[in-house]
Parts: sequence; C-alpha cells; structure tokens
Amino acid sequence: MVKEIYVAGEWRLGRGNVIQSLFPADNSVNAEISTATLDDVEEAIVKADQAWRKPEWRHSLPHERAKILYRVADIIESRVDELSKLQTRDNGKPLAETRALVMSAAATARFNAAACETFNEELTTQRAPDFLTMSVHEPVGVVAAITPWNSPIASEVQKLAPAIAAGNAVILKPAEATSLIALELAKIFEEAGLPKGILSVLIGRGSVIGDAIAQHPLVRKISFTGGTSTGRHLAHIAAEKLITTSLELGGKSPTIVLPDADIEIAAKGIAYGIFSSAGQACIAGSRLFIHQSIYETFLKRLVEITEGLRVGHPEQPNVHMGSLINPKHLESVHRYVELAKAEGGTVVTGGEAITAGEFAKGSFYKPTIITGLDNSAQTCQEEIFGPVLVVLPYQDEQDLIEQANDSCFGLAAGIWTENYRKAWKIARSLEVGTVWINTYKKFSISAPFGGFKDSGIGREKGRLGILSYMQQKSIYLGLNEQANLWSD
Ligand code: NAD
Repeated sequence: MVKEIYVAGEWRLGRGNVIQSLFPADNSVNAEISTATLDDVEEAIVKADQAWRKPEWRHSLPHERAKILYRVADIIESRVDELSKLQTRDNGKPLAETRALVMSAAATARFNAAACETFNEELTTQRAPDFLTMSVHEPVGVVAAITPWNSPIASEVQKLAPAIAAGNAVILKPAEATSLIALELAKIFEEAGLPKGILSVLIGRGSVIGDAIAQHPLVRKISFTGGTSTGRHLAHIAAEKLITTSLELGGKSPTIVLPDADIEIAAKGIAYGIFSSAGQACIAGSRLFIHQSIYETFLKRLVEITEGLRVGHPEQPNVHMGSLINPKHLESVHRYVELAKAEGGTVVTGGEAITAGEFAKGSFYKPTIITGLDNSAQTCQEEIFGPVLVVLPYQDEQDLIEQANDSCFGLAAGIWTENYRKAWKIARSLEVGTVWINTYKKFSISAPFGGFKDSGIGREKGRLGILSYMQQKSIYLGLNEQANLWSD
C-alpha cells in the first residue's frame, strides 16, 4: 500500500508521483510513498498559518506545549527498537547508531519541553518613572524545517521540538531517502496530542517541494540542515523575504594529534570520528593533522585500526560501518578517491567499493586513508561525505593553525593531547563552531551547535535554541495619570 503524507493533521495520499524507499544495504524496496505537489504545499501552509493563529494554540501556556513534547519523548523512547530499525532501513546506518539517534531525539524533545516551561520573560531596566517596560517573546508563525538523510529523527526533532515549544506551526520536508522515519514522527506528534495543522510532513524533491515551501510568503522562518550550496540558495530566498534562517551546513573538520597524545586512544578516536556513519556526517573528522615527529608511528597504528573495522550489514550486531546511502553517492565518494590519486595522493588503505557476496547489492565502501596531499588539494578542501580520511603532517603550532583554518568550512575540530593548556589555546585559535578535546562526535543537548564560515549560520540546541524560533516584542505600560505625551 502506498504511504500517505501528513497534510495539516490529515493522512492522505500526496497528489504527486509515487517514490520508493529503498534499503541501502541491498536496494530492496521498503515501501512506496506518495509525494506532495505544489497544491499540497499551498494547502499545508495556509492551514498551518490558520492553526498557529488559533487562540487555543496562540495563547496556549508553555506547560501545555511542554506536555505534548514530554509525551513525544516518552513515545519515542518506548518505541526505540522499532524506530531505530526503521531508520536503519531508511539510510543504512548500523542499528547501534540509529538507536543512539532515536534516544537523542527523545532527549531533545524532553529538553525543549523543560526549556519552554522554564523560559522567563523579562522586565527591562527602568529608566523612567512614568512607564514600565517588558520584553516578551512570540512565535514567528509558520516554520519551514528542511532536513537531510544522514541523521534523521535526531535532526528533525532538533527543529520540531524548539519550534513547537515556541508556539509555531511547522512544515517538515525531510530528505526523500528518509521519508519513512519522518512520517512516523508525524504519527508520534499526533498521538502526543499536537493540534491539527501545527505539523505537516511533505515528501518530495528538494528543488521543487522544499523550494516552494521556502518561497511561500506565509513561511516566516527557514530552519535548514544540509549541504552548503542548498543552504546558500535558501539564504537567498530568506534575504528576499526578509526572514530569518538557521543553517546547519557541511564541513571538512580537522582532527589534530599533538606529539604527546596517547597514540592508542587518539587513533581509535580518530577512526571513530571519520568512519562511524561511514563518514556520512557533517562533523566527520575528515582532515587529520599529525605532528611530524610521530607521523609514521601514528599513521601505522591508525591504518591497523582502520583495517580492523567491521563493515557489514547494518542490521547485524557489532558492525562499525554499514552501507552508504545509495549507489550514486558511492560513485561520488569513489570519484574523490580517484581525484586524490590524480592530485598526487597515495591510498594507504581502502580506496574501493566492497562488492563480494552479501555486499553485492548495496553501496559498501572500504574505510580509506589517503596521504601525500597538500592541504590546498581539492580532496582536502571539499566535503566528500564518505569514509575517506586525508592525512597531513604539521611542523609546529603556527603551521597547524594555518593549515587547519585554511578551509571554507568551520563546523568542528578534534584535538588529541595530554596537555590541556595547549589544547585550550589551539581550541581558541580554530575557526570552528565545536571543538572536541580527547573525544569526538559526542553531543550534549545543552551545548549550542552550529558552524563558522560556510558551515552555517545560527545555533541549534542549548537552553536558548528556542529563541531562534521566536521574535521579541517590547511592551510599554504608561504609569502617568495624565495622557499628555508632549515634552513641553
Ligand atoms: P542536501 O542539501 O542535498 O539536502 C538537504 C535537504 O534539502 C533535503 O531535504 C533536500 O530535499 C532539500 N533540498 C535540496 N534542494 C533544495 C532546494 N533547492 N530548496 C529547498 N530544499 C532543498 O543535503 P543532503 O545530501 O541531504 O545531506 C548532506 C549534507 O548535509 C552534507 O553537506 C552534510 O554536511 C550536511 N549536514 C549538515 C549538518 C549540520 O548540522 N551542520 C548535519 C547533517 C548534515
């Protein structure tokens, strides 16, 4: 049966063509899904605009909205096995990873419920005896939430929870590849008691449906996670409409090994930082800088660890890397490896697809390490979004900072050392939004996340993440008995 989309609180077939959800590990069909048309977009947005203005929602108390989000968190948690399986079927990540994403989505809903309930408005500093001023925050209205395929449910709840906590309505446009988990999320919000019209989930092509949602005059905020070129396009639309955006974009994150690092711990951490999610992570530590004094020793151990990683069927236990999202993406990753060779790089390990036996029908790629490139090489500058690590030596701290910052991206970085004073100094010199020291890819919902430079604008998460879905209003209360406002 063809899956329905969720338009303003109604489950019905989208009026567009039918697409297939494929399991990346063997390209078998998970489901057929109907897609939205421009008419569906229009209907969802007009109804969303009506829904958020209704007094029941517009004047709902924070704890009432929080209650919905607490329920969302409980439902997600109670269905963790089923939801992680569904997500693995959608994007080919190993079950352990998708389970962590599901649990993170539940935590995000709960955190935003608490942030919403405990959010304080302020009386502003009084400078005049004849009036009182206060600052209040109000919803922006209809929010477009547009998300990629690599960490769905987590990145979706990261937008939905604060937007709904703030009293908005949301039109969610997930990546086509991960439509199933997004539609399931709509069911969860519905079951949790979200009023009709406050959420729509529209499936369809980004360049058509995503674009139409962003362009719609009633959409007052674009919250986007995805590639930098799409983000730039959406920023242009937002600039024309004079609306705000939150853009979480791509990366080419440096990880750094100082000469005093514990080689075993650092090598394992670095392998995890690049090869988990098969490198399909915005924060993947894809450029490695090793101090020249330990370069050979460290590289040798890293290659051994990499060659010991288990690439396998994502539904099997204890798998480190599953399939890439689809054959087209595998080709793109492999083209970068060929480019690296043409640029003078040496493939030290990996560098090819895995096609034997059970891997034949999926898009599996060997974890790959490339040396011998200059940081200016295209392979060192562009986001590959696959299991490919480029390794470069550095001489001293100045050389390191110059090379690490020589990138259009600025999403994240990792530093491995026993010297926290040095690590702090380097962390402050790196032009990135997140720095991990002696760990990598760890997240706390209470720590704001976002990029410098081409990696994005704005911050998600943290107690104040909710603010990006609100607009501020100042209210003056006159205290004078007299109405005369003329200064004479
Ligand atoms: P993408 O930019 O191709 O697509 C992301 C979403 O935007 C999808 O839903 C897509 O359908 C939609 N879209 C595409 N063109 C559009 C348009 N013209 N108008 C409106 N919507 C449009 O990215 P992707 O390939 O799905 O995801 C991979 C990218 O996402 C990588 O660059 C990765 O680094 C980035 N990413 C960033 C973060 C972060 O938090 N910084 C997190 C995850 C992924």
